[in-house]
Amino acid sequence: MGLKIDFHVHTCYSCDSSITLKEVVVFAKKRGLDGVAVTDHNTVKGALKLKTRDLLIVPGIEVSTLDGHLLGINVTTPIPAKLGIEETIQRIHDVGGIAVAPHPTAFYKSPPSRSVSSYDAVEVMNASSVPFSVLTYFSKRFADGLGLPQTGGSDSHYAPEIGSAYTVVEADSDVDEIVDAIKRGAVVPRGRGIPWKIRLERTALGLKRKI
Ligand SMILES: [Zn+2]
Ligand SMILES: [Zn+2]
Repeated sequence: MGLKIDFHVHTCYSCDSSITLKEVVVFAKKRGLDGVAVTDHNTVKGALKLKTRDLLIVPGIEVSTLDGHLLGINVTTPIPAKLGIEETIQRIHDVGGIAVAPHPTAFYKSPPSRSVSSYDAVEVMNASSVPFSVLTYFSKRFADGLGLPQTGGSDSHYAPEIGSAYTVVEADSDVDEIVDAIKRGAVVPRGRGIPWKIRLERTALGLKRKI
């Protein structure tokens, strides 16, 4: 069966996300997920603060490196931004995490360097990337070329986006086992791009907030 986990969720601890910690739990449950990785931009504060018995929380971070974004999964220590990508991967490993290359083929999302091969996995499905199918195809080719495990996540910044894409993980409900399963490649990305209706809703709410 496997666990359904969205490995890329931003909470309001990211400057550009409106998702409260409570909403993470409510919407993830609604989407039938078993867990989420909280991966805020350059901070682990939200990931550490979110405590719940209803959902498995995998702590993480999305680091802005000098060579694009990088996901650190199973990271509870802040990793500094603006370092080279190889050094950032090393720092993630030093604190017991794994480094996943998010949205490697997106045009406008600060994709991580594709000349680096020391990632532990590649996020081949990123639900907020457009055009979703094309980018998934090329991201998969990149991961296949490196022979790396493939994950999926929503990259959600608005609660209804949670779980649009996710990863099926063959592991027990335990963070260390999940990390181990990613490394072994016992993971399959699933899902779809965020529907336009939800994208438009988010844009409209964002505009309203600014007025
Ligand atoms: Zn990103
Ligand atoms: Zn992100």
